Amino acid sequence: MKIRLVLAALLAQSPAFADTLIHAGHWLDVDGGRMQGAATLRIQGERIVAVTDGFQSAGPGDTLIDLKAATLLPGLMDMHTHLTEETGPRRYTEGFTDNPADFAFRSAVYAERTLLAGFTTVRDLGDIHRVSIALRNAVNQGLVDGPRIYTAGKSIATTGGHADPTNGHAEHLMGNPGPEDGVINGVAEARQAVRQRYKDGSDVIKITGTGGVLSVAKDGRRPQFMDDEVQAIVDTAKDYGMVVAVHAHGAEGMKRAIRAGVDSVEHGTYMDDEAIKLMKQHKTWYVPTISAGKFVGEKAKIPGYYPEIVRPKAAAIGPQIQATFAKAYKAGIKIAFGTDAAVYPHGGNAKEFGYMVEAGMPPLEAIRSATRNAAQLLHIEADAGSIAAGKWADLVAVDSDPLADIHVLESPRFVMKGGKVYKQ
Ligand SMILES: [Zn+2]
Repeated sequence: MKIRLVLAALLAQSPAFADTLIHAGHWLDVDGGRMQGAATLRIQGERIVAVTDGFQSAGPGDTLIDLKAATLLPGLMDMHTHLTEETGPRRYTEGFTDNPADFAFRSAVYAERTLLAGFTTVRDLGDIHRVSIALRNAVNQGLVDGPRIYTAGKSIATTGGHADPTNGHAEHLMGNPGPEDGVINGVAEARQAVRQRYKDGSDVIKITGTGGVLSVAKDGRRPQFMDDEVQAIVDTAKDYGMVVAVHAHGAEGMKRAIRAGVDSVEHGTYMDDEAIKLMKQHKTWYVPTISAGKFVGEKAKIPGYYPEIVRPKAAAIGPQIQATFAKAYKAGIKIAFGTDAAVYPHGGNAKEFGYMVEAGMPPLEAIRSATRNAAQLLHIEADAGSIAAGKWADLVAVDSDPLADIHVLESPRFVMKGGKVYKQ
């Protein structure tokens, strides 16, 4: 008994066992779909241990964070980023001039910018030199400030496909990239490419199921994998428990991937009624990336911003995505928030909320897409996606009610990840 009392006294004095208390004026219950009033969140280590009504007083040694004038939300999650690159005049030449370390230093800056914008988790869908894997590890080790990163490493494409890294190069620079570089032809190479990603340390798999906008290639929408190739990728990925994302603009490539069992369709630009029906049947997520569409549509008007082969694709595909999103939302398919950050400058992720609401989605649903839904897509809903006891203390605070004005999410005043404050 005496020992226990002494221990309790020691624990109470030790800062290592002190809690962090947050007094929140309001907090959004994304599961219940309600804005809640004054509450106290108690945080121990990286997790929330209690959420109680009213303002509880802090014990000696506890840290108290006063957010009485703010609204607290779960940390935001972007399911489509590329932290190793960014749009700009050097985008099409940096592959020839820059070394992996150049990409790595820049990616650390983009990661910090993303976290400070309120995004505590991202899914990174395609990188350069496997830098996003090292970035994730550095963030996890506390060496770099950034969001939790679930990365695909290098995307998987077919020869000449959207993620063939040598598209548009001079012949003597093209070489013949293979499964190790994420370029496959046939079932055996498809399997090998997934296994290579697993060996690299990727968390998820990304395939480029159709042509794309920004690659130096003519077509932006036709299918680029045969049925058996997509199936081999999905089956192999499932063996490792990896979620599969398919980049797709045209409907045919989209449908092949949905039938094969991919977890999410990215962009989905020319999604038709049959694709929508299939997505409902297969419970496939849709990750819209309206931000990317808007940005490339605007930049296509500036001569020289993109190579001439890219410009007509950007002009046609970009402005279409928001309308597709409106149709998909009305049809009732599952939507997870994603922006394609890098296509536009990193840190502007939250503008996507405004585009979603503008297209007819209620603010609560838009916020759910970036919290609860994203956590479900990544299978981390036990740890993330809402404010509740037992979950990671990944939190964002804004100045006013985001259900009344969604744009307040573009300037968070407070960001916490895993119980650590990054912005206050
Ligand atoms: Zn992308």
